[in-house]
This record gives sequence, structure tokens and C-alpha cells, in this order.
Amino acid sequence: MNTVAAYAAPAANAPLERTTVPRRPVGEHDVLIEIKYAGICHSDIHQARDGWGEGIFPMVPGHEIAGVVTETGPGVTRFAVGDRVGVGCFVDSCRTCSFCRQGLEQYCTEGMTPTYNGRGKDGEPTYGGYSTHIVVDENYTVRIPDSLPLDVAAPLLCAGITLYSPLVHWKAGPGKKVAIVGLGGLGHMGVKIAHALGAEVTVLSQTLRKQTDGFTLGADHFHATSDPETFEKLAGTFDLIVSTVAVPLDFSAYLGLLKTDGTLVNVGAPEEPVSLNLFSLINARRTLAGSMIGGIAETQEMLDFCAEHGLGSEIELIRADQVNEAYERVLKSDVRYRFVIDASTI
Ligand code: NAP
Ligand code: ZN
Ligand code: ZN
Repeated sequence: MNTVAAYAAPAANAPLERTTVPRRPVGEHDVLIEIKYAGICHSDIHQARDGWGEGIFPMVPGHEIAGVVTETGPGVTRFAVGDRVGVGCFVDSCRTCSFCRQGLEQYCTEGMTPTYNGRGKDGEPTYGGYSTHIVVDENYTVRIPDSLPLDVAAPLLCAGITLYSPLVHWKAGPGKKVAIVGLGGLGHMGVKIAHALGAEVTVLSQTLRKQTDGFTLGADHFHATSDPETFEKLAGTFDLIVSTVAVPLDFSAYLGLLKTDGTLVNVGAPEEPVSLNLFSLINARRTLAGSMIGGIAETQEMLDFCAEHGLGSEIELIRADQVNEAYERVLKSDVRYRFVIDASTI
């Protein structure tokens, strides 16, 4: 076991502080990664505050990891020392169920092993990316294309793939009207990716505060959801809506913005249940769906797509000792548009 520096929440709701955590020795198929940058996802905050329950503490959050390989196990074939790599939301899965075999490891029937706040097959807790190093199986590691700087690439490992997967699955593209609800970490990548896929993109944000940014990111239209007229004006407009909001929304109202046969995909993970007026579905054969991150092959595909289109995340780079302050700002929707920890400050 090696001990590495990390930032951890010692208990639910406690501020994160510097500590050390163990990393397993580099195994046959493992790579040792020197972490350069780790994005702060809203899921880190939900979990560090035990909003989803059953949190394992101390917890080292972080599943948007970008770094460089510094050691490889003897059986590693896909990576070499010096390679630029990323690790997202999971680091293992059963590898044999039908979902794993299809490259949908995130829906593994045995449950994938989360990058943090989970337990590996050895029963030991997993610790995430707010750390200097991590040991990961090469099969759960992806390559970051040379043209993507590591700091702006880090958030793609969760925010990027979480929007890319449903946008591609529900066929966002030319001739499609797509709305992204919430212009935060996930939402801003949704705007960039949907625009690059050729869709007509609308941002639905609480206010018009971020409107100029929205257009710069690639949106064609921008509306405030605090204005009740928005829901009247845009009724029946969209083929696809992706909601990224971290708190319960009035989904019945948002469903009314879909055309007949349209789909609302929710990727936000609020801590409380939502209620729904089912007439908002049945009166126009609409679909309400969910989606969780993406598989390993699809994550690689997303990184290559982002490199090809020059899409990185818009980031605010912070020192590790600013993480608690960053959490407060994310909770106030005051982030443009992803905080990224410089791991050299841990
Ligand atoms: P974020 O950066 O905080 O963005 C969420 C955005 O939602 C905010 O920027 C804000 O945008 C909007 N919002 C906030 N409060 C709102 C309210 N009361 N009413 C309406 N809109 C509100 O968070 P994130 O990192 O993008 O994550 C968003 C959610 O997705 C979290 O719940 C996270 O756990 C979840 N998540 C899910 C997956 C998945 O695989 N499904 C993956 C990653 C994260 P505006 O200022 O534009 O309104
Ligand atoms: Zn995330
Ligand atoms: Zn599986």
C-alpha cells in the first residue's frame, strides 16, 4: 500500500480537509496515474453531505480526473508511462453481464464500482480524484487526446459524458430542437455538445444572468424559467429536453414544452423525490427518461469528439484549500462553469 495526499470530508457535512489515503500497489493490469486536475461535480457535494445516503467516510470525492501515467503493471497493453489519461465515475464493474459486454458498464447488473464512495472487489473503500495519485485498471482508464489541455478536459469525464450520451442516444442533430435546463457544469457542456452535433439549442436558465455566456457557448435561444411567460411561449416546442438541475423541478411544466412524441431526459440527481402530473405525458405521447454518465468506449468516443470540435469545459482553476468555498458557490449556481482543482496544490 502506498499513502498519498488527498482532500477528504471526514464525516457527512464536515468541511473537506487535507489528509492521506491508501492506494493499492500497481497490479497486473493497473496504471498509476499522477493526477494533474480534478473537476468538482455537483455529485461530489451531494455525496460529501450524504444527501443520497449511505456515504462512506472519510470520503475523497472527485470523478473528473485528468493526469499522466507514471507506472504500468506488467500486463498493461493500452497505456505507457507518460500517456495523458482520464478516469471518470467508475473504476470497475463485473465485466461479464450483458451491459458490461455492450459497453454499458454504468448499468452493470452487479453494480459498477464508483471511483469514490464505493467499495472495490477487495472490499476496501474507493477514494476519488481530490488526490495526488490514483491506481486504476487500464480497462477503466481513457486516453485524453493531445489537443485537449488536461485542465479543461477533466470535467469531460463526468459532465461531458453525462450530456454526450443522452444527446447522442436521443439523436440530437440537424433539424432537432433541443433544450438544456440549468447552465451549470453539466448544462454548459450540453450546450456545447448539442451545438456541435448540429441541433438548434435553447438554454432554460433560472434568470437571464448567464445569457451572454449561453450564446458564446453555442446556444441559439435563451429563456428565463422564472418568467411564467416562458412556459406559455415555448409550449410544444422541443424534440428533446435534457434537465441537469440538482433540485426537484416541476417536471409537468417542462414536459409541456415538448412536442408530441418528445422526450425529456433527466440527468439531475436531486436528494428528494418529485411529483408529476401524468397528463403532461399522456396528452402528447411524451416520454420522461433518465440517463447516467456513459460507458468506457462511449467516454473515449466523447473525448475524441470534443477534441475534434475543440470543446473543453469552461473552468475556474482553484487551489485544493479553496474546495469548501467552491462547494458553497456551486450550491448558489455561482460557477462559470466548472471548478477544477489543481492537484499540485494538494
Ligand atoms: P451545477 O453545476 O450546480 O449545475 C446545476 C444548474 O442547475 C445550476 O447551475 C443552475 O443553472 C440550475 N439550478 C440550480 N438550482 C436551481 C433551481 N432551484 N431551479 C432551477 N434550476 C436550478 O451542477 P452539475 O454538476 O451540473 O450537476 C447537476 C446535477 O446532475 C446534480 O444533481 C448532479 O448530482 C447530477 N449529475 C448526474 C449525473 C448522471 O449521470 N445522471 C452525472 C453528473 C451529475 P441556472 O443558473 O442556469 O439556472
Ligand atoms: Zn459527476
Ligand atoms: Zn456487469
